[in-house]
Amino acid sequence: MARQPEHLRIGAHFQAADFGTPAEWAQHVLIHPRLGELSGKVFLKDLLGLTGMEVSLGALPPGASMPFLHAHKQNEELYLVVSGEGELQVDGEILPLKAGSALRVAPAGVRCWRALGTEPMTYLVVQAKVGSLEQHTGGDGIVSAVPVRW
Ligand code: ZN
Repeated sequence: MARQPEHLRIGAHFQAADFGTPAEWAQHVLIHPRLGELSGKVFLKDLLGLTGMEVSLGALPPGASMPFLHAHKQNEELYLVVSGEGELQVDGEILPLKAGSALRVAPAGVRCWRALGTEPMTYLVVQAKVGSLEQHTGGDGIVSAVPVRW
């Protein structure tokens, strides 16, 4: 049975949901418009109301590959591997992946990835419009004058 996000809470300035531990991400099922059911993939944008990025959580069993190559019209992607190992190919160039690997792929990069080794590869993909980031890190943060209390 497909896993559903839990504990969706919505506040004035937040939306929160629990998608399970990385070991549970394989239970998510995405209904893809052309490919049908894809196990081990869930997109967060609509569930969390994201407006400047798309984020997905993914899990691939060892030896499995995404079933298609793809590029993007205007979004760059960050691939961040949480656990396991594998490979990502971009324009035919093959790059190794392991826990902690972070890769940025430009919109035009034609890409695919697969899991290798003996355990599932879990990963995050963050997608945002290329060139859209105007402020970041400390340049966008505002330290509140209210002291921290828990
Ligand atoms: Zn993509």
